[in-house]
Amino acid sequence: MSKLVIGLTGGIGSGKSTVTNHFQELGIEVIDADIIAREVVAIDSPALKAIAEHFGDNYIQVDGQLNRGLLRSKIFANESDKLWLNKLLHPLIRSRLISKTAAAKGAYCILVAPLLIENNLLPLVNRVLVIDVREATQLERTMLRDNNSLKEVKAILASQTNRDKRLTVANDVINNDKVTLAEIKRIVVSLDKKYLALTKMV
Ligand code: ATP
Repeated sequence: MSKLVIGLTGGIGSGKSTVTNHFQELGIEVIDADIIAREVVAIDSPALKAIAEHFGDNYIQVDGQLNRGLLRSKIFANESDKLWLNKLLHPLIRSRLISKTAAAKGAYCILVAPLLIENNLLPLVNRVLVIDVREATQLERTMLRDNNSLKEVKAILASQTNRDKRLTVANDVINNDKVTLAEIKRIVVSLDKKYLALTKMV
């Protein structure tokens, strides 16, 4: 069990994957809430069956996988459907996150979650590392990466916690606006040293 769980968060396109990749290169275990959110609705899972029973069999594709696009449109259009889905999935995701962080073997581990604050995951972590960027940078990098329209990216941005709120819970911040990708690597190396030093104090 790790002595320290670092919660890593930031808005869409802020650079979470870029930063977590560097931690992984240093051998740090990364538990990704987005991956876990997919695992809980894997083929034949009880949650996937519950979704099909509630919304209809067409929410399962012919290959047995969840039809994510259809479900996304459904919950985007209807708040009560979104609440129903969150009520089903959030406890499952949370308990999996708890067991994965408890099983992590290194001195510290990283729990990366875009919605760390919004989904009340702060009690699961000891410290928070925020990847902070200006909204203009988020829009520009996300559109470049995903080929999304400005409207689509803005809608996702609007559904996430604002920058100031994230910063109020941060113990460490990486400002990813004007740094190069090589500089991020150096920042991660120094944070790794800091976190290892902290594990020796707990
Ligand atoms: P999401 O929330 O959408 O999963 P993310 O927070 O994981 O996004 P990344 O995928 O790491 O963000 O970064 C978004 C894009 O910006 C990527 O294409 C990445 O290569 C690029 N990027 C990240 N940091 C920098 C930087 N400092 N300079 C230039 N490009 C960057």
